[in-house]
Amino acid sequence: MRHNPLLLSDRVKKVLNRDSTIVYHFGLTAILFFEMLLDHDYYSKRDLLGIFLSGIIFSLLGLVRYFNLWSVNDKPLLYLSAYHIVFGLGFALFAPAYSPYLIVWLVLIFVTNFYYGYRGTTLSLSVLFIVFLNQSFRLLPAGSSIKEFMLYILVQFFLFSIVSFFLSETEKVSDQDRKLFVTSIDKAQLERQRLISLINSMGDGVISTDDKGVIKLYNAAALNILDTNTTLQEKNINDVMTIIDQSAKVVNLITEAAKENSVLTSTDHLLVYPDGEKINLYLNISPIKLSFRQNTERGYIVSFRDITREKSLEEERNEFISVVSHELRTPIAITEANISNAQFIVEKGNDLGAVKTALEASHKQALFLANMINDLSTLSRAERGKLDMKTEQIDPREIISSLNDDYKKDAETKGLTFSTAIEDGTPETISSNRLYVREILQNFITNSIKYTKEGSVTVTVNGDENGIVFIVKDTGIGISKSDQKRVFDKFFRSEDFRTRESSGTGLGLYVTKKLMKLIGAEIELKSKLNEGSSFIVHIPDLRENPIVEQ
Ligand code: ADP
Repeated sequence: MRHNPLLLSDRVKKVLNRDSTIVYHFGLTAILFFEMLLDHDYYSKRDLLGIFLSGIIFSLLGLVRYFNLWSVNDKPLLYLSAYHIVFGLGFALFAPAYSPYLIVWLVLIFVTNFYYGYRGTTLSLSVLFIVFLNQSFRLLPAGSSIKEFMLYILVQFFLFSIVSFFLSETEKVSDQDRKLFVTSIDKAQLERQRLISLINSMGDGVISTDDKGVIKLYNAAALNILDTNTTLQEKNINDVMTIIDQSAKVVNLITEAAKENSVLTSTDHLLVYPDGEKINLYLNISPIKLSFRQNTERGYIVSFRDITREKSLEEERNEFISVVSHELRTPIAITEANISNAQFIVEKGNDLGAVKTALEASHKQALFLANMINDLSTLSRAERGKLDMKTEQIDPREIISSLNDDYKKDAETKGLTFSTAIEDGTPETISSNRLYVREILQNFITNSIKYTKEGSVTVTVNGDENGIVFIVKDTGIGISKSDQKRVFDKFFRSEDFRTRESSGTGLGLYVTKKLMKLIGAEIELKSKLNEGSSFIVHIPDLRENPIVEQ
């Protein structure tokens, strides 16, 4: 709630409300009657009757205004005129000289000024002037000079004019000041609102505290990150945020910030939730300094954001680099050892057979390295793929026939039957990415050929409820139940000795999984150890099922 100082108009309205109006009217009449009783010797019978009647009319006016008869309260011109007439007649015809009740006329001028400004004041004063003239004629003692008469009127009138203008002016000035004050309060409120909207629109949590850590202001994101919807106002920041450092020690944010002379920034702190869950935080604590010269700190701005994802990505990247370098080290060491061996043999004699064996071993490792680099480059392409993936019309029949051309020979060289089949339900075309679909199928087919000693490899295509389905089936070594869960993990290779007979990087299926995600494909794996495996890929038609960014 905002509390503005009341404007003059509001205050006058408050004073002139229905109940107070009746009190003023009756009160004034009562005083008038009481005075008449005390001083009745002073007044003539005619004056007493006149004053009595004015009092009665004044009280009646009060009643009219109290009951708001004829909606009189909405017609200030009407009732102000009535007051002027009653008071005017009363003073002109019956009141004594310098009557103390003339003060009431000041109130009348004030109210008239309130409704009608300077014009009202001037009009009211003009009526008063006529009243004075009349009163003076009535009260002028016989034989007084016209000079005295004029002086009497002018003195009274000027006194009145000065006092009434002075009153109206002072009210106007103080009212202007008050208006200015209200405007500056409004401006400050607007600034504050702007600031609050600004910090509320930020994604980072922001909390402003005093120098003891008591929270004064905070934004919606702060509540979000702290996972609470209760107010943080006036609570201590250390009570609402449990922060620990890397050695799991609880950190007092304010003492920590006070230790630093300037801004404290860290990515090594963790926020602990009441249920024990932790997240990595980016934390920034800046002291609020009032001005450059004043060095005293008047509080802190604490901003923070959840960087758990960035942290885990960073850790994943570090782990990946360490695994890749480890995987590369062995083949490079073997290659290097064999080549230097070959050099040595050539220098010492000419045992061509030994040189050939060493070179063959090196060649095998070089091929492995080439494969791995190939997989890594496909992987990096898959990681970036989202950015430049195009969808196009692809023809499942054409893909099947090109795969047949590419792999039939390889399989047959190994003594396997390679066959392809196009089922009746296969649509003419679907919308997807040809390169990725081919790369996925290639990985399954090369694996099937690699891990099958005898029998066949079959590739079938058929229509699916929202696209097409490819099945790559082999009669190979199969995959155990426990391995089935891990074949898509990076660098996973089965411990089975038959797997180890052929070289592999363990990256092929990991890359395949990434590519499948890009085109929204789903995989089903059916396999039985020693009997064979079927990799079933559902590829959606992206024209009908566009991939929605998660
Ligand atoms: P790589 O073939 O280079 O070892 P992949 O990621 O392509 O790596 O495959 C991971 C593992 O999954 C293989 O090492 C193998 O143990 C198993 N695997 C994949 N495809 C087959 C298959 N058709 N038959 C049997 N095992 C398979």
